[in-house]
Amino acid sequence: MPPTPDATAPGAAVPDRGHADACPGALRLHTADDGGLARVRLPGGLLTDRQALALAEAAEALGDGELETTSRGNVQLRGLAPDCGAELADRLRAVGLLPSDTHERVRNIVASPLAGLDAAGTADVQAWVRELDARLCANDWAAGLSGKFLFALDDGRGDVAALDADVTLIAAPRGPALLRLGRGDHGHPVEAGQEVTAVLDAARAFLDALRGAGRAAWHLREVPELLPAGTVPLPGFAGTAVAAPIGALPGGLSVGLRFGRASGAQWRALVAASAGELRLTPWRGAVLPGAPADRLPALAAAGFRTEPGSAWERASACTGLPGCAKSLADVRADAARALDGGASAPRGGGLPVHWSGCERRCGHPAGQWVDVLATGQGYRVTVNGPAATAGTPAGVPVDVTNEEMAAAVVEARRTTK
Ligand code: SF4
Repeated sequence: MPPTPDATAPGAAVPDRGHADACPGALRLHTADDGGLARVRLPGGLLTDRQALALAEAAEALGDGELETTSRGNVQLRGLAPDCGAELADRLRAVGLLPSDTHERVRNIVASPLAGLDAAGTADVQAWVRELDARLCANDWAAGLSGKFLFALDDGRGDVAALDADVTLIAAPRGPALLRLGRGDHGHPVEAGQEVTAVLDAARAFLDALRGAGRAAWHLREVPELLPAGTVPLPGFAGTAVAAPIGALPGGLSVGLRFGRASGAQWRALVAASAGELRLTPWRGAVLPGAPADRLPALAAAGFRTEPGSAWERASACTGLPGCAKSLADVRADAARALDGGASAPRGGGLPVHWSGCERRCGHPAGQWVDVLATGQGYRVTVNGPAATAGTPAGVPVDVTNEEMAAAVVEARRTTK
């Protein structure tokens, strides 16, 4: 079974939710075409060195030796043997990566990865992450959330606030934090000290409202009529997520992973360069708080993206062939050729781009993005997202061959909102 998509495509019909979601977990493995797949939730993308090494050892001993990051800063192990579930669980428990068997799939929390490292944000969201995770795991009702339900804790810089989460908490430099429910453009002010309580209350109110209405839904955005309207306009964050910058930062290092994957050896290089802590980002990168700039060359030599402006910036792809039999192409190989051939974003920005092997578009970005979809004969390039409705130049699909794809992607990434 392929990885399940993280988001409903903008404009898509609300799916029937009269059944449990099939999101993989650390205990509930999915059978993919390349073997078992386990998804380990990492709230806030946070990992200690010891935990990171344990993941590399598990991937090498039980899987295909690689680790794959997701658009929520989680990590996946692939190519697992059918009988390795108990050993994987033991390895995760031993390092604190499986604090609750009953709640492991609902620990979906993204947080501003640069919080505390520079002056752009105003809140210690890592403290919020730890409190929210602990309280989620301690409450029986929370196990009723879907494995797709997402919490976003934004330190005020507007990065994870753009990720289309179910419940988003946004810190403000002056005044109370704001709580956004689903896709609303107004928020609810939250009293200082009550931020995590407000987030939990919102999730519980969603489950209660569903029960009261006899409805089934995985996301708040599927039932906006059941939500109380916010009263305060939200800050004007862009609809496209602002990825963490790459390279040496004021408070540490930030690197990108090609298509979010790293071998065990690369993972060890990350740990060796870190100062004891890693933060995986929702943009398939890793932030190493406190790591000195002189460790950047070793990370570049290990194959990480260490300089901004690369063609690979904000480029992602689904698993494709050979890992997913639904795919019409080896999308990662085709995308790598296009990116190495110059399918870059224009200087100063440009849209994220995502390659998919079929119309499920697993792992596509939120907001506006360039959709490169395998057709069997080549690829269809379209700008997807809020401003790309059919009939506008941005929304018109262009069918291209593999050879024409790089130029078409460059052009599409120039599209402005
Ligand atoms: S081909 Fe890609 S988008 Fe389609 S199901 Fe497989 S992984 Fe998902």
